[in-house]
Amino acid sequence: MGYNARMSLQYDLHSHSQASDGTLTATGLIQRACGAGVDVLALTDHDSVDGLAEARVAADDLPLQLIAGVEISVTWNNQTIHILGLNLDPDNPDLRTGLTSLQTFRDWRAEEIGRRLDKAGIEGAYAGARRLASGRIVSRTHFAHFLVEQGRARTVRDVFKKFLVRNKPGYVPGEWAPLDQAVGWIRGAGGVAVVAHPARYGLTGSKLRRLLDDFKSCGGTAIEVVSGSHTADDVHRMAGIARSLDLKASRGSDYHGPENPWIELGRLAILPDGCVPVWDDWQLPNSTH
Ligand code: AMP
Ligand code: MN
Ligand code: MN
Ligand code: MN
Repeated sequence: MGYNARMSLQYDLHSHSQASDGTLTATGLIQRACGAGVDVLALTDHDSVDGLAEARVAADDLPLQLIAGVEISVTWNNQTIHILGLNLDPDNPDLRTGLTSLQTFRDWRAEEIGRRLDKAGIEGAYAGARRLASGRIVSRTHFAHFLVEQGRARTVRDVFKKFLVRNKPGYVPGEWAPLDQAVGWIRGAGGVAVVAHPARYGLTGSKLRRLLDDFKSCGGTAIEVVSGSHTADDVHRMAGIARSLDLKASRGSDYHGPENPWIELGRLAILPDGCVPVWDDWQLPNSTH
């Protein structure tokens, strides 16, 4: 690659490993990201920092800077919102305690999803999802993979539509962390809070504005402007919102593994002009820039 192309680092600040619902091990993820030209990768598993120790070891041998992160499940205004914590201390006790409480809720929810699917005539889903979960976290993604395996639907996406979203048999309502608490855990651990994939919640402009106002007033810093799940139009819209609300901008693929061919590592668009990168004041020890 030419000198010019290396002038700016490739940041990907949102990814998953087997510690939550990704299909690669933390080591596999780091190696693949590095091979794809990512210079700075954040591992941001759902409600867990368990993959970070392994990721750290893997990154030590490679020209890749690992950012310790997490993607926290939040309930705001009866909606599930995902808040990324980036560049934090994964050993912070309050963060750990908070994540443990979410994991406990997840465990109950997984059993409840299993019971509800059972009533709908699908046996063994809880055990199946548990088997497919390599780490501590059981996600709806694991249920989806199990149901595809059982021939209940053709794709993971179809399983969600048919079984796992609101008003479907395997949907379990519940309360995740309050927004202010999640942001508090992240900041308390020295990190920055970022609203993940803001275009994906189906919020109206005014609702999204309310979310971001609340987010800012409890100490949130940035929104994900470039995301693997955003269209070019979403990126443009979110860049405008970030600028007008004086929020920084993040960039992340939300990579879950090679089974999801529509998102590959190292292929994200750059942040639009006028965005202030969430990493602009980070000091990266291995950075040559
Ligand atoms: P959970 O946190 O256990 O409720 O699971 C949420 C995860 O399921 C998200 O992080 C995505 O990885 C995945 N997911 C959610 N909705 C869909 C969908 N419609 N199609 C495929 N995966 C989805
Ligand atoms: Mn996921
Ligand atoms: Mn998410
Ligand atoms: Mn994610």
